[in-house]
Amino acid sequence: MNPLAQIVRATRPIYRKLSTSAPVAAAAKPIPTTGLCFELDDEQKALQDLARKFTREEIIPVAAQYDKSGEYPWPIVKKAWEVGLMNGHIPEHCGGLGLGIVELCLVTEALAYGCAGIKASIVTSSIGQTPVIIAGNKEQQKKYLGRLIDEPIVAAYCVTEPGAGSDVAGAKTKAEKKGDEWILNGQKMWITNGGVANWYFVLARTNPDPKCPASKAFTGFIVEREWPGVIPGRKEQNMGQRASDTRGITFEDVRIPKENVLIGEGAGFKIAMGAFDKTRPPVASGATGLAQRALDEATKYSLERKTFGVPIAKHQAVAFMLADMATGVETARLAWMRAAWLVDHGKKNTVAASVAKLHASEVANKAATDAVQIFGGNGFNTAYPVEKLMRDAKIYQIYEGTSQIQRLIISREILTAAKESN
Ligand SMILES: Cc1cc2nc3c(=O)[nH]c(=O)nc-3n(C[C@H](O)[C@H](O)[C@H](O)COP(=O)(O)OP(=O)(O)OC[C@H]3O[C@@H](n4cnc5c(N)ncnc54)[C@H](O)[C@@H]3O)c2cc1C
Repeated sequence: MNPLAQIVRATRPIYRKLSTSAPVAAAAKPIPTTGLCFELDDEQKALQDLARKFTREEIIPVAAQYDKSGEYPWPIVKKAWEVGLMNGHIPEHCGGLGLGIVELCLVTEALAYGCAGIKASIVTSSIGQTPVIIAGNKEQQKKYLGRLIDEPIVAAYCVTEPGAGSDVAGAKTKAEKKGDEWILNGQKMWITNGGVANWYFVLARTNPDPKCPASKAFTGFIVEREWPGVIPGRKEQNMGQRASDTRGITFEDVRIPKENVLIGEGAGFKIAMGAFDKTRPPVASGATGLAQRALDEATKYSLERKTFGVPIAKHQAVAFMLADMATGVETARLAWMRAAWLVDHGKKNTVAASVAKLHASEVANKAATDAVQIFGGNGFNTAYPVEKLMRDAKIYQIYEGTSQIQRLIISREILTAAKESN
């Protein structure tokens, strides 16, 4: 039994976690609440301690090295799997612990504190898994989620294409039904874990009629890496999160058995979009972890570095930057906690997830930029940790829906609610 499983077994009687195996529309089991509570329970504290210790011992010492080499951090991914920091949210019937999104976020924030790229390599597998968790049948879940419990391997989420990112409905990858199989053709782009995943969630157009609404035109498939015709491209050289593996993937006449369709023909768009309610809070928590690191590094440096005879922390202009960073970290954390708590309780969290993702990614970018400023010339140099934070932060405003798309979602919901109340 891995260390995380031991923690969960020991604390379960105190606080039973929700199972995440419920199908999309089913309400999660309610946990009785008596009002607001900002205290983590014993299981959550132990999980957070485990993730923080892992970050200190396994990630921080090698983060700069992986950033430089751009190598996929397999040894760290395998260790994270061994101690149970991966896949805790997989349902119990597949061998997982059935933990909630709050727990996934706690782990993600702690890992991102050490290196957002290594964090992406470890945690992004959960994004590929989410469509199977929310929409897979028991056999699909047992086969594909169970495989991730049995071996230190990862999954990936394949939706974006060279010509369609924000506009998912513009995706051109198509699948055609031939007998008991589907034949998949097309190209995906910017797929995290694209070159290392064992299997992918793939969204493909299955209704060629341009008049067919997106909600019915796409189907979600589970596609295995080893199947003929699955061709990952070169590893992309990105600005930041360089330990993460990002690739294009070409699908050429890939034969998919009908058993690998999620829910049924035409259900894919809803599954792909529905997954964001569960995956955006962890992205926000990752951005929060990075912002916390920027604050901690800047605070430490501002007490050590002297100008005009005093530590720079004594200059109000510097101290106020620290205050703004702390305010950002605090509010970003509260935002992901609420978004994660809502979805764990079976409540609609689409707006809260977008608010958390938008806010935390803006906070991470501001905090990292201000940390570089506080470090002065040293901040611009690779000998200090903050330039990497600034490069790593940028992608939080882009993947899992850009900041503009989050604003679209939030404003659309506000306006719809306003119209309905009139
Ligand atoms: C490192 C990395 C990892 C990624 N990982 C994955 C992954 O694992 N799986 C996956 O499927 N995808 C992944 N992506 C893709 C990512 O989600 C997309 O890049 C993102 O959604 C934006 O799409 P795009 O790049 O096509 O930009 P575009 O959609 O072309 O947008 C370009 C610009 O226009 C703006 N814009 C577009 N439409 C509107 C609008 N209606 N209103 C206002 N502004 C708008 C955007 O905000 C952006 O600023 C990853 C991307 C990167 C770079």
